[in-house]
Parts: sequence; structure tokens; C-alpha cells
Amino acid sequence: KAAKRGNAHLCYFNEEMEQQLLREKTIEDCMGGALALGEFQVYYQPKYCMADNEIVGAEALVRWQNKDYGFMSPAEFIPIFEKNGFIVELDFYVMEQVYKMLQGRLERGEKTVRISINQSRLHFAQKNYIERLNELRDKYGIPRELIELELTESIFAHMKDISEMVDKLKANGYYLSVDDFGAGYSSLNMLKEISIDTLKIDKDFLSGEDKSGRYQKVIQKVVELANDLNMDIICEGVEREEQAEFLQSIGCMYAQGYLYAKPMAEDDFLQLLT
Ligand code: C2E
Ligand code: MG
Ligand code: MG
Ligand code: MG
Repeated sequence: KAAKRGNAHLCYFNEEMEQQLLREKTIEDCMGGALALGEFQVYYQPKYCMADNEIVGAEALVRWQNKDYGFMSPAEFIPIFEKNGFIVELDFYVMEQVYKMLQGRLERGEKTVRISINQSRLHFAQKNYIERLNELRDKYGIPRELIELELTESIFAHMKDISEMVDKLKANGYYLSVDDFGAGYSSLNMLKEISIDTLKIDKDFLSGEDKSGRYQKVIQKVVELANDLNMDIICEGVEREEQAEFLQSIGCMYAQGYLYAKPMAEDDFLQLLT
């Protein structure tokens, strides 16, 4: 009986894996076409100064609406694109859309804010990464202070030569932030060695169960550390008023989260900004 149950379990598991592989295959089959069809869209989520509710920046977040499969979440397709390398092209596509938006605003003399763009770790293995970045920035004539690159924290744990790359990016005028700080690979060493401009505290950190107040103490220390190191600090995933109050009480003044605004289409974002 037990063996039978075991078998059934095994089959179920295989079926699920097969479904998963099929889904991946489907996504891979349509990703190139999706770029050409303009199915990828850039959404923007504003970042706020909590003290005065001013928008101080925004993060560009990719969205995919496929003609056959509908809406797909970045949480699903980004890991697949990181496996097959397509993320390198997609990130540059997102960057170009952001630059087009900024160029238009600048030409019309309209208000702009710094936009942060997520960068996959795969870029760091590309020889011409910085040249490509600079080329695009020059092509659209985007001022340096309007561009920020978000590097996820896991990059720092997994790559040896990262501090060299960070120095190069800084020397080329890129404003840098560590994304998802505290999500699992944090290393204080990283803070010691690497000249990053901003720490983004991961949303899971803030939303975790906190009966003993330990999370709050840890966040408070991280904020102090960032201040001592002259880094800016922002918290993502701020959903509730009491979280915003707590953050301000410990000296973290910037937030990104549903409490303030969800990621939104470009038109909506530009309207909000104006
Ligand atoms: P991330 O860079 O950490 O982006 C923040 C994520 O948190 C976004 O999810 C955003 O929609 C979500 N978020 C913001 N505020 C709240 C909140 O108050 N509550 C909750 N529960 N969630 C909130 P999204 O857009 O689904 O993106 C997921 C991840 O996919 C991103 O995490 C980023 O790692 C990756 N990603 C998105 N766009 C790109 C891209 O263009 N290039 C690359 N390489 N990665 C991207
Ligand atoms: Mg990010
Ligand atoms: Mg993040
Ligand atoms: Mg995150």
C-alpha cells in the first residue's frame, strides 16, 4: 500500500515537472517575438519621501502581456530569462524605453526624477557591458543624475570581481543601489568594501512576523549603519501606515510600496509626476 502511494506521489511529481518544463518552453518560444511585437511594457513605481509625500524617484519594472497567454509575472519569466540569457537583451530594452521617456520629458521641459533600472547579474559577464550602457546613455543624452542601476544583493555574494565592476560603474557616473538588501545573502563585508550609493531594504524584511521586535531592531541597525557610511536608504514593500511611521522614527525617510503607489503604466506615472 505504502509503495503504491509512493508511486502515485512520484507520478504526480513528474507530471508537475513536465508541466513546468512545458510552460518554460512556451515562454522561451515566444520571448523573442514578444520583444518585436512590443509585448513588454515598462511600469513605474514611484519612490516617496515620507516626510512630505514628494516623489523622489521611481523604479522601472517590466510587464509582459502575451497575446496567447495573457499577463505573466516577472517572478515567473525573469528566472527563465536568467537561465537562457535573454534577460541581457530585455534589460537593455527596458533601459531604452526609460531613456525615451526621459528624453521626451527633458525636451518638453517637464519635471523628471531619477529612474532606477534593475540589472541582472548576467551583464557582469559581458565584456562590453559598460560600453553598451554608455552608448545608450549618450544616444539619448540622459544626464547622469537621472539614472540609477539596481543590483540585487545576491550578485554580491556570488561574484568575486564585483567590487572592480562597481568601481568601473561608479567611474562612469552610474548611481548604484543594492536591491533586496537583507533578503538572504547579506554580507557586511560587501558594505565594507563596496561603494554603493543606496541600500534598498527588502520587503520581506519589513513584513515578516515580528513578535519579539527583533526585525525592527535589525532594521534600525541597518539604517544607522547606512547613515554612518553615508549611504541613502529606502525601504521597499511599505504597505501600512505603522510601517511608514516606524521607518521614519528610526531615520529611514524614503519608501516604495503599495501604501504610496503601485507600479503603474507610463502614462499614469507621468500624469502623477506632473
Ligand atoms: P524588485 O526589483 O525587488 O522590485 C520590487 C517588487 O516588489 C516589484 O515586483 C514590485 O511590484 C513589488 N512591490 C512594490 N511595492 C510592494 C508592496 O507594497 N507590497 C508587495 N507585496 N510588493 C510590492 P515585480 O514588479 O513583480 O518584480 C519582481 C522582481 O522581478 C523585481 O523585484 C526584480 O527583481 C525583477 N524585475 C522586474 N523588472 C525587471 C527588469 O526590467 N530587469 C530585471 N533584471 N529584473 C526585473
Ligand atoms: Mg529592484
Ligand atoms: Mg527590490
Ligand atoms: Mg525585492
